[in-house]
Amino acid sequence: MAPDALCTPSNHHPADDSDSWQRMIADSITTAEGLAAHLPVDPDRIRTVIQRYPMRITPYYLALIRQQQDPIWRQAVPDPAEIRDTDLAADGLGEEPQSPVPNLTHRYPDRVLFAVSSQCAVYCRHCMRKRKVGRPAGITAATRREGVAYIRHHTAVRDVILSGGDPLMLADDVIAALLAELRAIAHVETIRIHSRIPCTLPQRITPTLVGILRRFHPLFLNTHFNHPAELTPAAAQACAALADGGIPLGCQTVLLKGVNDHPTVMQSLLRGLLKMRVKPYYLHHPDPIRGTAHFRLPVRKGLELMRSLRGAVSGMAIPQYMIDLPGGGGKVPLLPDYVQSADQNRMRVSNYRGEVYEYPG
Ligand SMILES: *Cc1c(COP(=O)(O)O)cnc(C)c1O
Ligand code: SF4
Repeated sequence: MAPDALCTPSNHHPADDSDSWQRMIADSITTAEGLAAHLPVDPDRIRTVIQRYPMRITPYYLALIRQQQDPIWRQAVPDPAEIRDTDLAADGLGEEPQSPVPNLTHRYPDRVLFAVSSQCAVYCRHCMRKRKVGRPAGITAATRREGVAYIRHHTAVRDVILSGGDPLMLADDVIAALLAELRAIAHVETIRIHSRIPCTLPQRITPTLVGILRRFHPLFLNTHFNHPAELTPAAAQACAALADGGIPLGCQTVLLKGVNDHPTVMQSLLRGLLKMRVKPYYLHHPDPIRGTAHFRLPVRKGLELMRSLRGAVSGMAIPQYMIDLPGGGGKVPLLPDYVQSADQNRMRVSNYRGEVYEYPG
């Protein structure tokens, strides 16, 4: 063997190579031909979808696909149903009208949703922001500067949510500089990072990155896992590294038809997350967003699923079930109706087994 063969990338140990994630992005599948080389798909059909909604699938996430239309496939492989869906609004939640500067939505008085990257490791087919992800022109260093300036001038903003796209697609030095600017603003109390990268590219959670993030506490990270097949040893290792960095981890799961709309799947996901020290935060009902109609299901099904959790999994693992009102009305938690009747003296309440008890008024 020639001595320099030892220097080829495949011989690098990932833990010693904090840039290997960038190679994994470069090696990701973004074209119809590239996808057809790995999966039984018709490249012409894929091409028409990705002209509208881009595709990227990391080699890591691709390897989790076991068969056609399985839950990983449905989340990552473009589906012609996306472009057939023209009834729903592209910006159904009214984010743009509530954005005082580009890419920063200020809906609630005390917090802002600040989109700092248009890129993601995998473009989820169910994305509620699919009108803008993967379009390079939209989010730039200039819009990030404008966003930071807006936050600096609005003293009511206590909580900054970095979103996108995926903030962890930015380079380490860009993330460090952005967090330093936000931390220098006295009225910003908490910073949250919304990132799917622990699920779609866990190799991005390097010791260097954790070292940067931990300098800016209190900093929270909400990730996005939707199926137990995503809870791999690599994902668990990424979450452990973040948790060891003192970063409280939450999960925002999206309820999706054909992915996780079954009690045993959801229970196994929630238990698995808790074992990885990730606290399920929200279970989002799928938003009414153009291009995602094939994932939607009735709210009644979500409520039944929530009812199946109480008693079956630790209360620590139960997320709040949320709908987000169209047109910018904001998020509303929904609960199955446990109260059967109530008057001044007593309530009749059903428990997790469906047994009815009286509770003194
Ligand atoms: C979801 C969301 C938030 C954060 O809501 P929380 O309930 O505090 O997690 C903030 N701003 C916008 C625009 C949102 O959509
Ligand atoms: S990672 Fe988040 S922002 Fe990116 S495509 Fe998926 S859901 Fe959308």
